[in-house]
Amino acid sequence: MSRVCPRISGTPTAAGKHCPKKVGTVPLTVGVLALQGDVDEHRNALSDLGARPVAVRRPSDLAGVDALVIPGGESTAIIKLADAFEMTEPLQHAVQSGVPVLGSCAGMVLLAREVLDGEPGQTTFGGLDITVRRNAFGRQVDSFEEDITIAGVEGGPMRAIFIRAPWVETVGEDVEVLARTSQAYHADKVVAVAQGSVMACSFHPELTPDRRLHALFLQRVKGRSGQ
Ligand code: GLN
Repeated sequence: MSRVCPRISGTPTAAGKHCPKKVGTVPLTVGVLALQGDVDEHRNALSDLGARPVAVRRPSDLAGVDALVIPGGESTAIIKLADAFEMTEPLQHAVQSGVPVLGSCAGMVLLAREVLDGEPGQTTFGGLDITVRRNAFGRQVDSFEEDITIAGVEGGPMRAIFIRAPWVETVGEDVEVLARTSQAYHADKVVAVAQGSVMACSFHPELTPDRRLHALFLQRVKGRSGQ
């Protein structure tokens, strides 16, 4: 029996799996969750790399996206808005069905299996078998920048901006650690990870002109779809 593939439709395919785009030259359509946070900066980064960013606010906006970005902002606000817009379950479903996702900062918190120092009962979209600690590096005044070496990113370290950033406290065995802090006052903390088609970082790659982390994500999305 042939399998109908709506990409993300809010309902699973027969196999319950996301079907990535197969056409070679068509730009990837990347949904950016646009409830709160630095949405435009991610859209700019994706456009610079030749992808087609679309704002995602409602379940119907998920139709046809090849991948998703969950921006930084405030995870407690984003999850409340996701509940209000009836987006939490569709996003959990999208992640479970294999839609590639990149989360930055609050986006990392929202992809974690478990959140420490979250609000009581703070839920997430899942996708990463990690425990994250919210605001782990401190408050707004403790924000910092550091050059970070990221596995899979060629051409030397990247400038990484940490703003009320989480760190990853534990990782499951299927999780790849992509980067750790080095010279900040909290050294050797895990700040970028990947698991299958889901990637996340504690910092804000969208706030610098360096597009290499978004490029790595799009490369992984394309690799998955055989482009
Ligand atoms: N501390 C924020 C949170 O928990 C994340 C901050 C950010 O995205 N810059 O969601």
